[in-house]
Order: sequence, then C-alpha cells, then structure tokens
Amino acid sequence: MTPAGSLLVASGLHKSYGPTPALDGADFSIHPAEVVAIMGPSGSGKSTLLHCLAGIVQPDSGTVSSGGGARSALPDRERSALRRSEFGFVFQFGQLVPELTCLENVALPLRLNGTGRKAAEAQALEWLGRLEVDTVAGQRPSEVSGGQGQRVAVARSLVTQPRVLFADEPTGALDSLNGERVMQLFTDAARDTRAAVVLVTHEARVAAYSDREVVVRDGKARDMAGVA
Ligand code: ADP
Repeated sequence: MTPAGSLLVASGLHKSYGPTPALDGADFSIHPAEVVAIMGPSGSGKSTLLHCLAGIVQPDSGTVSSGGGARSALPDRERSALRRSEFGFVFQFGQLVPELTCLENVALPLRLNGTGRKAAEAQALEWLGRLEVDTVAGQRPSEVSGGQGQRVAVARSLVTQPRVLFADEPTGALDSLNGERVMQLFTDAARDTRAAVVLVTHEARVAAYSDREVVVRDGKARDMAGVA
C-alpha cells in the first residue's frame, strides 16, 4: 500500500543503460491534484524517472506503488491496462494522429475505451472548448499552429479524466508566450479534475506552474520543499 494520501510512490529506483546509472536510488511521491515539476540538467535522469513512474520502463530495482500495491510487480498486460485507464500523457511534440481531425484525435482515447462515436465527440468538443481550441475541431494537426496543437494534445490527455497526467517537456517546442498559455490552461484544467501532474521540464518559468519542485541530479531525486 502507498503511504496515507499519496497517489503514486516510487522508492529506491535504480535503472542503468550500460555501465552508467540513469537512476541511482530515486524516490518520488505525488498526491491527488498536486502538480509536481521534475527539474534538473539534461541527462540527469528526469525522463527515465517519468517513464518508470508511468510504467513504460521497468526499473532494475526499487518499487512504484499506486493505491492498490506495487505496480512494478504486475505483468506487462495489466500494467498496460492500468496505464490506459489511470494515466494521461502529453509529449513535447503533441504526437497527434496526422490523418485525424483535432476533434477525432481528442475523441480517440474514449473510442479506444469503447465509448460510442457521438458521445466521444461531444466530450472531445467540450474539452477542446476548455482549452480554447474548439475553433480548430475540424482541422487536421498539420493545419493548426504549434500552440493550438499542444492544447489539442492536452485536451486528448484529459478527456478520459486520468488520475495522473505525465507531461515530458510539454511546452519545449513553443515560444514563451504560447508556452505560458498552454501551461496555464493545462494546470487549471488538471486542478479542476483533481488529476495529479508529473511535469518534466528544464525551464524555471514552466516549473513555476507547479506546486512543488523535485530536482534530479545524477539519478537521485531531491524534493525542494522547504529548501531555501
Ligand atoms: P533527462 O531526461 O534528464 O535528460 P534521461 O532520463 O533521458 O535524462 O537520461 C539519463 C541517462 O540515461 C543519460 O545518460 C541518457 O543518455 C541515458 N539513457 C536514457 N535512456 C536511454 C536509453 N533508452 N538507452 C541508453 N541510454 C539511455
């Protein structure tokens, strides 16, 4: 079980690719509705930590637990099912499906969960509205701006109302004005739905939207709460 109140807890994570450890005993925890920024220099292990938390990468040792127990002990298929139902993802380059309209992209996770087309598209349109991009619903990703595309990607990550949202440099490809707008809408929407957000960034102005910062250095994570 996780410690009281925590949604996701990782302890003692080790992961090596070859001789150098990417994670060297990293600990991490997050509460419901909390926005935590994982910061640190390039190559310090931020993305590896995020991937272990999300169950995309198996750590060599250490545990990741959420509510019901140790996630890293589950078979692959069960971990994938948990990932689909509980987690949402936002990446640096939106990664929208180019052949689908923005509306169809946002409706896709619901369709994959078995929701009928009409209901899925109605919910998708509502989320596009919350992210202020309902005007591009009928357009394909190649026809919208970078900032609009990222807002569509955020809408897609939230449409299933996941408990945890993982965002890896979500504004890394945007200029600062668009980046700030996306972060504002993203964190507001996540807080509204009480989704926890694990945000990897190397930019202080992006981390400023978080409730708490965790700094990863040499594969170890250090909570900056209370650190001057
Ligand atoms: P960050 O996100 O902080 O830039 P990463 O977690 O991507 O750091 O990488 C940490 C270390 O692990 C780096 O030295 C990187 O080269 C290495 N690494 C990460 N993923 C892989 C991989 N799939 N194969 C080999 N080395 C990797």
